[in-house]
Formats: sequence, structure tokens, C-alpha cells
Amino acid sequence: MNDKEWEDGDQKVWDGLDYDTRLAVAGHMIRKVVEIGTEGGSFRHFIYGILGFDMDAYVPLYMAGGMTITNEFDLQKIEDIKKIVGENKYEKLKPVLGLCDEPDCFEEASSGWPSEDNVYRHTCSAHFKKKNDETE
Ligand SMILES: [Zn+2]
Repeated sequence: MNDKEWEDGDQKVWDGLDYDTRLAVAGHMIRKVVEIGTEGGSFRHFIYGILGFDMDAYVPLYMAGGMTITNEFDLQKIEDIKKIVGENKYEKLKPVLGLCDEPDCFEEASSGWPSEDNVYRHTCSAHFKKKNDETE
């Protein structure tokens, strides 16, 4: 089977599930992806240890892009990068890391809002409040 045939087969099974089952499967998978992103570990650990599959799952889950999750989705690495960006004041990297767009602030952006000059801002809660206080 090629990529497209695997994907079409998975889609067909997904479409055959009732809404509550799809919601439960999606919620379960999101939790497991966050778990491997937090713990770290190999593709094999993810599919056998965390998801509980047998050896026959290797190819279909590899074809689905599972190796991308274990190779690229590392939440600790992202936190380490944010720390380095803050320590070195790399303002240009803040948007891709979801950090507050206020100059010299390297907190997590938690609010998005349109400014008076129609620029969509992403700020931490402190700078969102500051903006609200200024307009009141
Ligand atoms: Zn801020």
C-alpha cells in the first residue's frame, strides 16, 4: 500500500465511527501526543509503550507520520529555546514561539487583540491588561 491508500483507509474507518467515539479517540490521541512530547522517547516507545500496539503497527503508524512526532515534537526543547531567546533578547523569534510581542517582554502570549492601528497583537496577560487600562 502507498501513503494515499493508507490515508484513505484510515479516513474511511474514521468516517465510520460515531461522533462520541471520534471525540474519545481524538482526546486520547492528543493526550498521548502531549505525553510523548513531554517525556520524550523513540518512535517505538511511542507506538508500543505509550499507545500499546504490537509490531504490526510499525508500518501504518510510520506511514501516518508518527516518526515526525517523536523526532520533532519535544516540549522541553521548545521551553529551552524560549529561555535562550529571552536571555539573548532575540525579538525576531518571539512570534514563532508564541511570546508576547511587547518589546523586551519574553513572557508567553496569552491574549490576541486588535490594536488601534489595526495590527493584531499577541501579548502576555500583563501587557493585555496594560493596554486595557490605557484605553479606559
Ligand atoms: Zn508581555
